[in-house]
Amino acid sequence: MQELLYTVLELETWNRRATCDFCPGLNKAVCQIRTRSKLTDKIVSNSCSCEECKEKFENDELPKCSNCGRLETKDNFFKGKHVCDCIRYNEDIEEKELPSLPHEQRQTAFYERQINGLREELATAEEALEIEREEVAKFQEKSEEWSKRQKQELLDKIKSLEEKIKQLEEENNLLKGQQNGQVAQIEVKENKRWSWLKVKK
Ligand SMILES: [Zn+2]
Ligand SMILES: [Zn+2]
Repeated sequence: MQELLYTVLELETWNRRATCDFCPGLNKAVCQIRTRSKLTDKIVSNSCSCEECKEKFENDELPKCSNCGRLETKDNFFKGKHVCDCIRYNEDIEEKELPSLPHEQRQTAFYERQINGLREELATAEEALEIEREEVAKFQEKSEEWSKRQKQELLDKIKSLEEKIKQLEEENNLLKGQQNGQVAQIEVKENKRWSWLKVKK
């Protein structure tokens, strides 16, 4: 099978009012998907796509002809079956043409290659960004867990200190009680002494 280059392009001016070539109904086209032979640079298909089909294409979900690799369009549905141009026109799939020479290479094909290269770069960058985002989320989760644990430890410490204070206060009260008792005893002794002196007078 010939190698093909698919490129999503902006709608050309004469296609501004076009509808989607990939799905039934009259869905408004938002872009074109151009298919080109990698070997000869020749355009083998150029179809309009709606937003939904564009997304499908980007996720590699638009069906392709198993014979030649062209994307299946609704124009090629015959009695509920997809019949690609390659079969309808009995195209010779085996590429016999010679690759295009540098001076024959078309400028549009050159730009399409660039667009595809940049899209790949963008996809790689987005992937890397997604991984980084996940890392950040993991880190945040971890630090949240850590601060939760830290908070619990502090609360536990405060609780045990409060209990200690309570205990100390109780001990303090007990001591105070004992002291009061002793003071009372001393007073009793003193009173006795004074009473004895009084008696002596
Ligand atoms: Zn569509
Ligand atoms: Zn085909």
